[in-house]
Amino acid sequence: MSPVATRVGLIERYRERLPFADGDPVISLGEGSTPLVHAPALSERVGAEVWLKLEGLNPTGSFKDRGMTCAVSAAVREGAKAVICASTGNTSASAAAYAARAGIRCAVLVPDGKIATGKLAQALMHGARVIVLRGNFDEALKLVRELADRHPISLVNSVNRFRLEGQKTASFEIVEALGEERPLDALCIPVGNAGNITAYWKGFRELGVAPRMFGFQAAGAAPLVEGAPVAHPETVASAIRIGNPARWEEAMDAMTSSQGAVRAVTDAQILDAYRFLAAREGVFCEPASAASVAGLMVHGAGDAERVACVLTGHGLKDPSTALDQAGAVVPCEPELAAVEEAVLG
Ligand SMILES: *Cc1c(COP(=O)(O)O)cnc(C)c1O
Repeated sequence: MSPVATRVGLIERYRERLPFADGDPVISLGEGSTPLVHAPALSERVGAEVWLKLEGLNPTGSFKDRGMTCAVSAAVREGAKAVICASTGNTSASAAAYAARAGIRCAVLVPDGKIATGKLAQALMHGARVIVLRGNFDEALKLVRELADRHPISLVNSVNRFRLEGQKTASFEIVEALGEERPLDALCIPVGNAGNITAYWKGFRELGVAPRMFGFQAAGAAPLVEGAPVAHPETVASAIRIGNPARWEEAMDAMTSSQGAVRAVTDAQILDAYRFLAAREGVFCEPASAASVAGLMVHGAGDAERVACVLTGHGLKDPSTALDQAGAVVPCEPELAAVEEAVLG
């Protein structure tokens, strides 16, 4: 293999900080090593130096790949022949891809009618068995946990500790990219099932740094903000439409011990940030990801001077929300005058 054609996956890159020995099976698609880009327009808007961690540039288009390379590699090491997860979409796309790569079976339980088109297409293309539950994510997670207890199937939701091990590597990358001279003051991140914020905090702690952790939930699905589970979570940000996060305590601990906070943002605020990022920064993320930026715009990040926002998934995952939000196309006759009018008018 030519070295220029390979992108080192994160188990290989961070093996000494991960629970994998030399010679363990590694199921990788070259995940991690995502760009951290400066956001000039957003920085000006909020009066801080803001960086965007583009997790949509992982192999299946979301940060879930960081956790999945570890969860599926560990499942293969244990001899599992199948993996299962409940998913608002991205976990299923990622599990399906890594299972395909490993040559094992994958089943996913997704909530009825609430999964973005791109994610469903991925899970199906990768050959997963996609089960559409007449229920929400929280019910799906409860059911797959019971199923995994009864059968030799490996559960790859973020209740799986290997998922968090993989996901913590994003913190390592941010710290490495910014250097030691002026470390990060605050991290803004969307919170759904609360695995990712838990993983980032774990990663930062392992490096001995402690940026303030600001978690943002959608107002219609904000159990951590309200301090109680939400029975019928609703939001346009389908990836964080979760009413009873599995990593509740750990996420709250991350935010309190870092002197951060958990706050809610409305769908309108999420969509404002979503359009702002696309139109002003040239960065297309999915609505749930924009919750981190919406939170920063609306609530700020204390007195932080240097802030990173985690953009968890790619905008192409959810083309229907994008088209609902975007401007209309311009129809045109195939004549120069008409094109001139259409372009310049
Ligand atoms: C999974 C996901 C989240 C939420 O992460 P949690 O670990 O469940 O808190 C946010 N955004 C996107 C795009 C996701 O796929």
